[in-house]
Amino acid sequence: MIQFQQVSKAYRGGRQALQKVDFHLKPADMAFLTGHSGAGKSTLLKLICALERPSDGKIWFNGHDITRLSNKKIPFLRRNIGIIFQDHKLLMDRSVFDNIALPLRVEQMNEHDIKRRVSAALDKVGLLDKAKCLPIQLSGGEQQRVGIARAVVNKPMLVLADEPTGNLDAELSQQVLRLFEEFNRVGVTVLMATHDTSLLASRDYRRLDLHKGNLRELAHGA
Ligand code: ADP
Ligand code: ADP
Repeated sequence: MIQFQQVSKAYRGGRQALQKVDFHLKPADMAFLTGHSGAGKSTLLKLICALERPSDGKIWFNGHDITRLSNKKIPFLRRNIGIIFQDHKLLMDRSVFDNIALPLRVEQMNEHDIKRRVSAALDKVGLLDKAKCLPIQLSGGEQQRVGIARAVVNKPMLVLADEPTGNLDAELSQQVLRLFEEFNRVGVTVLMATHDTSLLASRDYRRLDLHKGNLRELAHGA
């Protein structure tokens, strides 16, 4: 599904964020992306959804070379990808329902189908009764689950999560991880950046580890 071939990224100003990164994720894989702060995790995730372009190398997504994707085709790529951020980036003046509906409205889905899909997403994350709330009325863990519902509402084949449990306590972090596992069980590919050691210790998934922009795969259980 995703393949990086010798991918390097230098930001303007010369800072080298990734160096000749190679890896491969198959459909329905689940993997952790680890590494200290500044190691290049966010950069790698941004390259997958073409929020950044590589300086060198090739990135394949479903057989398409996305390093050469024209700007007007980027929305077609993003439609396949759900992205979850640490700070969830919810619109604070819109209801939970409207936040989750956003990606569907961008696609101009009709309101009837939007209702159905948003309800299904809310049900999945256990927040059906909060549809009318504003994000500010929810706890941190609930807000993160709204962010997750928004990321999966258009049924992406790939979920990218950037430190999704960074602001959550251990129990809520496990809850978020279990949600990703449920998506993964039905075939969604999941790549989750984290440096949460207790979360990492609790599971035996593949670990792609970045160190100063160099990626290596750690043995299971490392
Ligand atoms: P991580 O997510 O592992 O903390 P990042 O991918 O955010 O790492 O950052 C990798 C390196 O690239 C860091 O040295 C960071 O300062 C640098 N960097 C990230 N984004 C930018 C940017 N937009 N412009 C310049 N340098 C950046
Ligand atoms: P083409 O125009 O090459 O015949 P499509 O009509 O399938 O192919 O898609 C148009 C363009 O959108 C493709 O060339 C490709 O760059 C991009 N694209 C389509 N589907 C995907 C996908 N699943 N992932 C990434 N890019 C895609």
